[in-house]
Amino acid sequence: MKLCTFRHENSARIGVVTDDGVVDLSIAAPELPREMVALLVAGPDALRRAASAASNAKSRLAQDSVSLRAPILRPPKFLAIGLNYADHIAEAGIEAPKHPTVFNKQSTCVTGPSDPVWMPRISHVLDYEGELGFVIGRRCRHVPRDRAHEVIAGYLVVNDVTIRDWQFRVPTWTMGKSFDTHGPIGPWITTADEVGDPHALRLRTFVNGELRQDSTTKQLIFDCHALVAHLSDGFTLEPGDVVATGTPGGVGIAMKPPKLLVVGDRMRVEIEGLGALENEVVAEPETTVL
Ligand code: ZN
Repeated sequence: MKLCTFRHENSARIGVVTDDGVVDLSIAAPELPREMVALLVAGPDALRRAASAASNAKSRLAQDSVSLRAPILRPPKFLAIGLNYADHIAEAGIEAPKHPTVFNKQSTCVTGPSDPVWMPRISHVLDYEGELGFVIGRRCRHVPRDRAHEVIAGYLVVNDVTIRDWQFRVPTWTMGKSFDTHGPIGPWITTADEVGDPHALRLRTFVNGELRQDSTTKQLIFDCHALVAHLSDGFTLEPGDVVATGTPGGVGIAMKPPKLLVVGDRMRVEIEGLGALENEVVAEPETTVL
């Protein structure tokens, strides 16, 4: 099942993306929660009811008439992993880490699968990172690696947009990874049962149609299950938490010469079976001045 959040007039609704269009769950299953994190909190039974309502729904919205938002508008946690692909480590010229490099993206940076990404007024050192993300479906702690699949609700595509000078000029990456609009996620959550093996998916990133990243999640050093075990040894994971697992080789800053993003560039990140994000770089609007 593909779970989405979409714009309806001035509010957000959740739905299921099917081959014949989008099923509005507020109509097809009005007894279910109306927001994605609440739906995930409601657990597997609620997800089964959503799937059954979607397959029996009488009315569907044409997919091109629906404006998708981030499937989770404000994840409780938005974590990401640095240096987690063998080919990316090679291009960065460093050794493979012994422990996952975990950092936060602020949840306020989350944006939709086709929303604009801002070129900030204070730096133009803007770069993309196509990544596989997973979504936690169950509150958990100390999850053994071989049971990690039980707490992952599904998978989505993440573009871990980064301001490279702000990332590297201090020891922590929090600022450089968290500018507003620098967290496109989506286009929907594909539930784990539909993904099969999350560690055998082709991932590609394009800028203006030019292929920049072409890898597979086989190359992950710490895979999704190892990451759940590692993170949950330290803190509680909760439904709706999003973890971006790291980017493969081919980021703009590592190209020779570097090819950073400019206003007007169109990024596309696609992962086999999970869909694609398409975000255009625009100048940060004047309206964001205090
Ligand atoms: Zn990243």
